[in-house]
Amino acid sequence: MFDTIIRNVRIIEDELWKFVDLGIINERFAEISPTVTGSARNEVDGDCAYCLPGSVDLHVHFNEPGRTHWEGFTTGSAAASAAGITYLAEMPLNSVPSTTNVDALKTKLSAINNKSYLDFGLWGGVVPGNVNDLEPLAKAGVIGFKAFMAPSGNDDFENSDNSTLREAMFRIAQTGRRLALHAEDKVVLNRASKRLKRTVSAFDWDASRPVEAEISATKTAIELSVETGCPITIVHVSSVEVLNLIQNAKRQGVDITCETCPHYLLLSRIDADTIGADAKCAPPLRSKARMRAMEEAVFDNLIDTIGSDHSPSPPEMKKDKPFFDAWGGIAGIQHGYPLLLSRYGMDILPRIKLMQRLCCENPAKVINLKSKGSLCVDNDADFTLIKSSESTSVIEESSLLTRHQRSAYIGAKINIKLAATWLRGNLVCSNGKLSKNPPRGKFIPYSI
Ligand code: ZN
Repeated sequence: MFDTIIRNVRIIEDELWKFVDLGIINERFAEISPTVTGSARNEVDGDCAYCLPGSVDLHVHFNEPGRTHWEGFTTGSAAASAAGITYLAEMPLNSVPSTTNVDALKTKLSAINNKSYLDFGLWGGVVPGNVNDLEPLAKAGVIGFKAFMAPSGNDDFENSDNSTLREAMFRIAQTGRRLALHAEDKVVLNRASKRLKRTVSAFDWDASRPVEAEISATKTAIELSVETGCPITIVHVSSVEVLNLIQNAKRQGVDITCETCPHYLLLSRIDADTIGADAKCAPPLRSKARMRAMEEAVFDNLIDTIGSDHSPSPPEMKKDKPFFDAWGGIAGIQHGYPLLLSRYGMDILPRIKLMQRLCCENPAKVINLKSKGSLCVDNDADFTLIKSSESTSVIEESSLLTRHQRSAYIGAKINIKLAATWLRGNLVCSNGKLSKNPPRGKFIPYSI
């Protein structure tokens, strides 16, 4: 007897969309086949929807506890569920306290308790002075560590100099985890800022944080990884030059992966100039040519994972502020991934297969999350059902499930509908609305 059978959905098998039924027992896929025979407590007509694994987003800032007026797990995970995401990993900064020791981790876990609609993991933070906290954090189950090579914009989370990084990386290498790096070189940033003639527009913001800063920091990160044996991931890469460096390092055997975000593929600095502070982030949105080159790089397999880097703030930190004074962080978790699927076209299978790899399979592999990221028997029954829409709709503020009705994607056009998101065999969200089920997301500690 199945708990649930979802009838008649399309999944990617080999190089085709194939019609299957999904049989679920005890929150896991028990059978995926053209016809699941037998009975179930709950039978659902999948209505020929495209079915992808729940997406695994390794890069969110929900700021719980301490700054839940910025987002919080309840609203952040609700918005993510509307995007087909079923697992989130939260970054260690912008909450109070930052997750830089085990006490802070416990504080965070008890604050999140029963609030998350989706399963989640937590990153630990590397800051100057906490090197002895890294191994205990690893033992407590963090999925990896995060450090900044330039100021984070938050005084509670200091950036790491090279000697801090070196020592931390020797220690992290012993734990089997990966270090995620915000790779911008502070010295290059300072030099660029001094050269600026104007600090007004999104173009000036781009000039103040040039690609050279990413290149320089990534080179340093690679050298430190070689020296220490610490696996690394470069987060939110905005330019192809950095991807090429990472490819070279991979060829030489360095254990390095890279992430980009939907906004570097969907928005340029011209858009940022129109949208204003809601499209301010670091590294900045780049030129249209760079944006297109990043998209080419996706299709050339130069990117390992796509993460939202959802980094919201209260509206007053953005609204009516000069671009340079506004909080830097893009809130886009609810629409970034769906907009990519819409842009690439659900019927263009190689592209959607690639999205499945970059947004579901690869992120799960990067953090050794074995139960999620792909549709296979014994995995958690995490999936999303997607319908192509005949008509194009426009993203409106009123659709947002985030705490604040702000997003970089308001006004963007989309031609798919996320019909439903299921977490471990339970419906979380359908057609952009939360189900009546209470939040049942759980913390999944790292497991070897
Ligand atoms: Zn981030």
